[in-house]
Amino acid sequence: MPLSEFALIERYFRSCGAQRPDVVAGIGDDAALLTLAPGSELVAATDTLVEGVHFPHGSPPASIGHRALAVNLSDLAAMGARPAWALLALTLPRAEDAWLAEFAAGLGALARAHDVALVGGDTTRGPLCVTVQLLGHVPRGSALRRSGGRDGDAVFVSGTPGDAAAGLALEQGRLQAPADTAAYLRERFLWPKPRMALGERLRSHASACIDVSDGLLGDAAKLAAASRTGLQIDFDALPLSAALRQALGEGPARELALSGGDDYELCFCVHPEKLPALLAELPPQHWGYQRIGSLCAAPGALVVRDGTVMEFSHSGYQHFG
Ligand code: ADP
Ligand code: MG
Repeated sequence: MPLSEFALIERYFRSCGAQRPDVVAGIGDDAALLTLAPGSELVAATDTLVEGVHFPHGSPPASIGHRALAVNLSDLAAMGARPAWALLALTLPRAEDAWLAEFAAGLGALARAHDVALVGGDTTRGPLCVTVQLLGHVPRGSALRRSGGRDGDAVFVSGTPGDAAAGLALEQGRLQAPADTAAYLRERFLWPKPRMALGERLRSHASACIDVSDGLLGDAAKLAAASRTGLQIDFDALPLSAALRQALGEGPARELALSGGDDYELCFCVHPEKLPALLAELPPQHWGYQRIGSLCAAPGALVVRDGTVMEFSHSGYQHFG
């Protein structure tokens, strides 16, 4: 017997996330009622995952639930915000118990890990599509923005970008790799770990921040454009995982680190006078980030290797002159 919408929400979503005292009314009323602490600003983000577009058909349901929240968490991390409340708009072709149980387990585990309450949503029938809206807060005036960078700022990235894009290629059978390498890279696509703690700590260090979801070079260029600066990235400084190197080889691994999507890492800028405090208070080897370049006065995004500018296109890159 198909589940009624009411029974489905009760069974899978009522106690899916964290319990929070600032939820006056959650699932069960017409809208959620939430208490925002005095002196805070509300930070809101939403992102949609469509089957066949943002994840392959037949992806593990727990991973879909995890990723639907993770992509939004990453947006809040980039603002230096602390997440608190989520809404879930779920469109399903059919109400299938096993699928829903796994989906809710994946979403719920990540929500509870970050103290996020699931406070409402919408459930409809149609092609599989998951939209999460995530709400959080920052102390008033302290949010990180894309626009705060200046000429001369150091540019950093967290983690090892490119891994998730290789993981997706493996999931889709477009790439082959030894079993342990493949397992690591697939995990990086299926179970991204948004950089919440780093984002919050960067509020007192970074001049600008963006989350890397569509490819490092393009996203860093968006930050630079918002900051009205240019950007120079040192090709040889890009951090690579051993697995990505092994799967692709050095050069292609570096290219994928620049162009691949679904990383959910942070790219951030720091004024030169604030570098000593950053490096002392957030040691890079502990926090997992690395300098990859600088903001510069001349507009545009350049990738440089041994003093030579490289040009990237969808088919790879060519050296200038
Ligand atoms: P309404 O018709 O008033 O919009 P619904 O019957 O759609 O309400 O939903 C009932 C309650 O369940 C609401 O509080 C809504 O926010 C919540 N809800 C519906 N679908 C979901 C879902 N997929 N996840 C979490 N909460 C949901
Ligand atoms: Mg209603």
